[in-house]
Amino acid sequence: MKLLKDVQEIIAYRDSLPKDFSIGLVPTMGALHDGHKSLIEASKQKDKHTFVSIFVNPTQFGANEDFLHYPRNIEKDLEICEKIGTDVVFIPEISQMYSSSNEITIKAPKNMGYVYEGFIREGHFDGVLQIVMKLFGLVRPHHAYFGQKDAQQLLIIQKMIKDFFLPIELVPCPTKRDIDGLALSSRNVYLNAEQRQSALKISATLELIAQAIKGGEKRSLELLKIGKKALSGVKDLKVEYLDICDHQLVMSPIIKRDETIVLIAAKVGSTRLLDNLWV
Ligand code: AMP
Repeated sequence: MKLLKDVQEIIAYRDSLPKDFSIGLVPTMGALHDGHKSLIEASKQKDKHTFVSIFVNPTQFGANEDFLHYPRNIEKDLEICEKIGTDVVFIPEISQMYSSSNEITIKAPKNMGYVYEGFIREGHFDGVLQIVMKLFGLVRPHHAYFGQKDAQQLLIIQKMIKDFFLPIELVPCPTKRDIDGLALSSRNVYLNAEQRQSALKISATLELIAQAIKGGEKRSLELLKIGKKALSGVKDLKVEYLDICDHQLVMSPIIKRDETIVLIAAKVGSTRLLDNLWV
């Protein structure tokens, strides 16, 4: 496994690869878990060469967020990458990725980038697009792997690829969960045992909604009622949003197969957790 830290190194390395190699990129912020692993494995299956980037991107964190305290464990991450057979791990310093103080910036569209996560974390998706565009430019992947766990992020990046005519196919990967149902997240380490019990209500609520859909319920209002009831009165849990929308992130009054997502964001203690259901 090659470990690269320098922008010039990765450009030179990428140039050295045969033209007919298919390249997969898995962008991450590290603290890798089985969710990340599944993305790397998907790339290993599809592509000849797999790049994993590990970079805690400062521009996607708000002033009061956990940038400084975001979980970091590079040694363990490298072990995981090596074990799965990652070809290249790219771990740049901030100064490498943001070397200009007046760089050109990408702005997520209001209707997709400033609702839900983007409403609570204003500017978050601008930062995400900025770093992903840079990584795309450096790695020039044929396939980029993103988790459905971060549904809004996935959809906005898909739109950037389309709007900028990037020759990249985004490969959506299903959410990996612990056996108890909790969606894997680097932030789960912040939860104590009691908070984890409360957090489990999030995936359990999505399961209830999924059951109701299976039972024939199509009206979002009814499904949201079920969700709100299941999430009310849970110790230490505060729902930030629970909503049902389409792939343009517009609220959907009626759910449609393959076109609808149920989104939940909740704070358990001071830890923000996201989960969703792709209908
Ligand atoms: P992060 O390191 O949190 O920025 O995540 C890097 C990538 O892993 C993103 O595409 C996430 O959507 C994806 N990811 C995070 N958690 C999971 C999970 N539980 N299952 C599948 N993919 C995930």
